[in-house]
Amino acid sequence: MDRILEIDPVSRTAVVEAGVINKSLDVAVAVHDLAFAPDPASSAISTVGGNIATNAGGLRCVKYGTTRGSVLAVRVVLADGEVVCLGGKTRKNATGLDLLGLIVGSEGSLGVIVEATVALIPRPWNEQMILACFDDESALERAAEAVARSRVVPAAFEMMDRESIGVVGERLLRLLDIDRLGAGLLIVRTDGAGASAEIEALAASLSVPGVRPSRRLSAPESELVMQLRRGSGVEGVGDPQVGSDDRWWLGEDMTLPIRSLARYLRHARSVAASHEVRISHIAHLGDGNVHPSLTLAKEYGSEEDARTWLQAAADELVRFALAEGGALTGEHGVGLAKLPWIDEALSLEVREIQRRVKRALDPNGILNPGKAL
Ligand SMILES: Cc1cc2nc3c(=O)[nH]c(=O)nc-3n(C[C@H](O)[C@H](O)[C@H](O)COP(=O)(O)OP(=O)(O)OC[C@H]3O[C@@H](n4cnc5c(N)ncnc54)[C@H](O)[C@@H]3O)c2cc1C
Repeated sequence: MDRILEIDPVSRTAVVEAGVINKSLDVAVAVHDLAFAPDPASSAISTVGGNIATNAGGLRCVKYGTTRGSVLAVRVVLADGEVVCLGGKTRKNATGLDLLGLIVGSEGSLGVIVEATVALIPRPWNEQMILACFDDESALERAAEAVARSRVVPAAFEMMDRESIGVVGERLLRLLDIDRLGAGLLIVRTDGAGASAEIEALAASLSVPGVRPSRRLSAPESELVMQLRRGSGVEGVGDPQVGSDDRWWLGEDMTLPIRSLARYLRHARSVAASHEVRISHIAHLGDGNVHPSLTLAKEYGSEEDARTWLQAAADELVRFALAEGGALTGEHGVGLAKLPWIDEALSLEVREIQRRVKRALDPNGILNPGKAL
């Protein structure tokens, strides 16, 4: 199911089968100066159906929203084999209960999406980028608050800490005349007609103590930075096997209120020390969506031991995020890995409503049994 069935440049919509790869759709609509807004770092391998099933996010979300905002309709096969269409072709639709919204992010637990009508955006143009180095968590907090108060919505606002940038990244930054990295890097991008004025406004906002905004980057330089960001490879599925040759690895995904980010990062530092693991972070900073990457030297033990060990450290991070009012998952979904925390993330009443919805649509529990709910 990998066919693009229709692209309508006037209504700015596309109808696709569920197996169309995110990147392929984006390339196909580019000839009409349109874009598919969801841009997970997995865009080259993930499908539109999977994006909808997990309500995927990405770098553009801070301005263009998560997948939820880009889905107008889905054709879904229900547990009893019935095929239903939810939603329609128009952006506005206030008819009845939002059953389309129920399917988005349901991780295949309520039905199998076979086709989708997606909303497209005018292709982002005139992209402008600056970087900013920050000295410590307090400086990062000041930067995040300054951008939030700036009255400009950036097209991307990302954070990479020193460790996730790595040696290659530091070399790249020196090529861009950035020689004092500090604790990490902010990537700030604007787009559209007002992009130049907006990037200047954001650079001015970021002139706060402990933060050093860079000059404006050229287009090829910006592309190199995006490659660095996308290649950081720490947004995964919590599988320690996806580590380097000598380290076990576990990736996480939570959200926090912007005001809690600095406190969270300090907490993560103390968790790393007390559990004797390494924790580095990249974040979709504008959305408060953090991706900690926890690693442990393989010499410490087997994969199973490592999983237990890393999970214990991850547990402290997740609980902290929940206590601060954050969400258990910002964009990867619950799956199996996050089920142990679901009772802390959702109240008993909400869990019961979810169970009732599941029973109504899948009474025999045949759709992704044991996952997500
Ligand atoms: C390297 C890497 C980077 C990533 N970066 C990001 C990121 O930046 N942002 C982000 O949000 N996520 C990211 N992810 C997570 C993941 O790629 C996304 O959530 C993506 O949207 C999943 O799509 P998929 O086609 O790979 O689905 P799968 O992983 O195959 O499936 C995910 C879930 O959706 C269900 N599902 C899949 N297709 C359908 C369907 N047609 N109907 C019903 N249920 C279905 C599956 O059963 C499963 O429960 C990343 C993953 C990797 C490996």
